[in-house]
Amino acid sequence: MEDDRLSYITKKEVNLDRDKINVLNTILDIKEPPVARCRLLSNGIEPYHRLYLEDGFTIEGDKACIACGNCIDSCPVLRREPDRRARTVQRTSFALEIIVADDCEQCYACVMSCPQVDTGIKDYVVEDRVVEVIPQSKKMKFLDNYFMMFVALLVGIIIGIFITW
Ligand code: SF4
Ligand code: SF4
Repeated sequence: MEDDRLSYITKKEVNLDRDKINVLNTILDIKEPPVARCRLLSNGIEPYHRLYLEDGFTIEGDKACIACGNCIDSCPVLRREPDRRARTVQRTSFALEIIVADDCEQCYACVMSCPQVDTGIKDYVVEDRVVEVIPQSKKMKFLDNYFMMFVALLVGIIIGIFITW
């Protein structure tokens, strides 16, 4: 059972083939919310997902939006414009497409936050599309300056020792 589970995980995380990458690039180049298309390019619900259903009923492979709202919550356009977000109470990719449309900034946060998008697609987006900018914290800057002062002092002492020798 454990082996089966691991093989499914491996299948889901395996590198994307060339055809899939071409389709994915086309999706990611469009200036519209990409999450629904990325979801449809994924494998859908896997057997190891923790959904308890009645015996004989299976939704394995289902690629539907589960209306979790993660994509809505993660979209920077909607975070900046609460009025736009308030246009609907729906929390689905369809709602995202309607209220963001071509104002999409192609940040791909919606893709990264969707539980129905495969890890392989997310890996590709991170490695090939997202430019990571990690802002330096003020605390770190202070520590950096403090460290540089210490280095300068040390160099000064060493030079002083050589000069007075
Ligand atoms: S999260 Fe980013 S990529 Fe997704 S719809 Fe909003 S702006 Fe576009
Ligand atoms: S993040 Fe949630 S609401 Fe958005 S597309 Fe994925 S499943 Fe649907």
